[in-house]
Amino acid sequence: MHQYAAGRPDEQDKGDLQDFAKKILEKMSGDPSGMSDPQIPGNRPYKKAGGAGLVPKAGHKCTSCGLCAESCPAQAISKENLRETDSKKCISCMRCVSICPQSARKVNSAMVAAAAIAIKKACSDRKNNELFC
Ligand code: SF4
Ligand code: SF4
Repeated sequence: MHQYAAGRPDEQDKGDLQDFAKKILEKMSGDPSGMSDPQIPGNRPYKKAGGAGLVPKAGHKCTSCGLCAESCPAQAISKENLRETDSKKCISCMRCVSICPQSARKVNSAMVAAAAIAIKKACSDRKNNELFC
C-alpha cells in the first residue's frame, strides 16, 4: 500500500530524528534520579499479534534460499517447507515480501485492494514522529 506515507522518511523526518538524538543524549547525560516512566498513549491491553488477514505466499519464482524464513520476525515461515506460512503467527509486516531477492512472495491483490480501502481514512493524513522519554 505504497499510496500511504509515500516519500517518507522525508527531510522533516530526518530533522525529527536529529532532534530525537539530541534529546536522548541530553536525557542520558542528565541525573538518572530525575527519570520517569514514559507515558505512552494507546489502547491497553494491546491486541495480541498474529492471525492477520494478509498472509504472503511464495510463488513459482521461489528458489528456496530461506532468507524470508530467517528474517520473519514472527517465525511464521516454516524453515522445513518455505512455501508454508502459519497464518496464526503472521503479523502481516511484509518484511518477507520486501526482502525476497526473487520477488517471489506475494499477497492476494484483491485482499490488498480491500485492505487499502479499509485503512484509507486512518492512513491518509501525515503521521508525525513522536518521542516519548
Ligand atoms: S526469500 Fe524468496 S526466494 Fe528465498 S525462500 Fe523466501 S520466497 Fe523463496
Ligand atoms: S508478513 Fe511478516 S510476519 Fe508474515 S510471514 Fe512475512 S515476514 Fe513473517
